[in-house]
Amino acid sequence: MPHNPQDSNRHITLIGAGLAGAVLATLLARRGWQVDVYEKRGDPRLKGYGGGRSINLALAERGRHALRLAGADDAVMAQAVMMRGRMVHFLDGRTDLQRYGRDDSEVIWSVHRGELNVILLDIAERAGAHLHFDRGLASVDFDARTATFTDPRDGSTHTAGFVSLVGADGAGSALRGAMASQTELGERTEFLGHSYKELEIPPAADGGFSIEPNALHIWPRGRYMCIALPNDERTFTVTLFLPNEGDPSFATVRNGAEARALFERDFADAVPLIPNLERDFERNPAGLLATLYLDSWHLDDRAVLVGDAAHAMVPFHGQGMNCAFEDCVALAEHLDRQPDRAAAFAAFQAERLPNARAIQAMALENYLEMRDRVDDDDYLLQRALERALAERHPERFMPRYSMVTFQRLPYATAYERGRQQRELLVELTRGHHSLDTLDWAQVDATVHERLSPLQVGA
Ligand SMILES: Cc1cc2nc3c(=O)[nH]c(=O)nc-3n(C[C@H](O)[C@H](O)[C@H](O)COP(=O)(O)OP(=O)(O)OC[C@H]3O[C@@H](n4cnc5c(N)ncnc54)[C@H](O)[C@@H]3O)c2cc1C
Repeated sequence: MPHNPQDSNRHITLIGAGLAGAVLATLLARRGWQVDVYEKRGDPRLKGYGGGRSINLALAERGRHALRLAGADDAVMAQAVMMRGRMVHFLDGRTDLQRYGRDDSEVIWSVHRGELNVILLDIAERAGAHLHFDRGLASVDFDARTATFTDPRDGSTHTAGFVSLVGADGAGSALRGAMASQTELGERTEFLGHSYKELEIPPAADGGFSIEPNALHIWPRGRYMCIALPNDERTFTVTLFLPNEGDPSFATVRNGAEARALFERDFADAVPLIPNLERDFERNPAGLLATLYLDSWHLDDRAVLVGDAAHAMVPFHGQGMNCAFEDCVALAEHLDRQPDRAAAFAAFQAERLPNARAIQAMALENYLEMRDRVDDDDYLLQRALERALAERHPERFMPRYSMVTFQRLPYATAYERGRQQRELLVELTRGHHSLDTLDWAQVDATVHERLSPLQVGA
């Protein structure tokens, strides 16, 4: 809490020291703010993280930009594993590497969630943020501007004053719940009807990676799929995505033996890689997948939401954390630019909400693409044309994936531009089975006519 009233215009209280909370704390502390951060869990630097399981995330340019501003990029990249593209595993055991970008300057990075959090907490503390662990937000008195926290170890309660609260407390945000009792946030959650479960590929007998490390592996199977991301400790985290109903689904694949039967039928080349399939399947919880929409992210000058607390999304574009980090940069800039906090929060929301909606939509679309289309002939021809057009007209044609992943132009721009480009790809490949039969002069003229030059490097 502010120690004296003179400090109050540069004091802020963050709820949640997860990924967004730690980055925002650092960005604000580096700008001279007094930052207090309250986190429900214990300090992962003392207790270890997440039950020791390796869970990883794809880090892309938007996230890296925020990490650079926070002074955290070098430390994070020291443990990141490069992923050049999707390694598609077909049902018959063939594999095909589909590159994400033009070369190794356009790649994504697999980072270990627990290690990332630890690095970010160290950096936040070094920047001057005060971290309070074992403090779960329980209730807020917005009139008195006090927040009450519970210590999960002994149930004791602790109250602290605040000037403004920032909810970086994730998809189940307690702060969002408290704000909703004061104002209409227009909250709705759309469940995907699919869930996920994590399994592990351990290192090979020689201690190295047991499959290609520099790729995001995908086993697309129509209504469902598996993916695997590498970890720097030479393991892979496998995530199985299945519908909740139907066959197969989490209603029919209920235990280790049923999981093995599914894998032997549909992911046969992965079976020898996952020796503890039954154990992992039975031990690890199934996670639900949903998109959270809000019409309002703030309560005047008293509270604002960032990251998953404001806009949780399905994970199929690998952008939830990247988007959360981009929120942090935007909020820190608005707070610095605009001393009136209600106006700063409103400007933050005006900038970020349309972009969050766009990436939420693209993440949902990407699920269809990943599980169903990466091995489809029309799709592969469109992808080939997309690559050719990106080479021929780099200033006008950029694959949507690249706009989202390797650039920082607003998600909403990438979404709209992607829609126009997709229309063009479908139109230009209609009736063709190969790029050899295209009339390139006409293709080039159409691109010039329909797509204006892109403003990148934003
Ligand atoms: C299966 C899966 C795969 C994903 N893969 C990717 C990926 O590849 N790339 C990517 O960019 N994103 C990915 N994401 C999304 C990413 O995990 C989230 O977007 C990101 O973690 C959001 O960060 P956050 O800080 O907003 O929330 P969180 O990381 O959830 O952090 C919230 C923090 O708040 C704390 N907290 C909760 N309640 C309270 C309370 N009452 N009081 C105090 N503290 C509290 C929590 O303990 C936690 O530390 C994935 C998500 C899932 C589910």
